[in-house]
Amino acid sequence: MMCSACRARRDWLLINHGRNVWVRCRCGNQWLEPEIDRADFDALVGGPHGTTYPSVEAGLAALGFDGVFVGIYME
Ligand SMILES: [Zn+2]
Repeated sequence: MMCSACRARRDWLLINHGRNVWVRCRCGNQWLEPEIDRADFDALVGGPHGTTYPSVEAGLAALGFDGVFVGIYME
């Protein structure tokens, strides 16, 4: 995977929304990543310890988007 906008390969925020996983890059680019499913998401963000936020914006604000493979659940 690589950000199509800035070519970054890390420092992404992964957003789990239902069955879909979105990737948000620090550059602001955001895209649907069909190759990541829920199991991959859980593995990347460290298992069932992720935090559920009511919205992406709330998650971004709470996390400060300051990590690698930080995960947000939206359910
Ligand atoms: Zn980017």
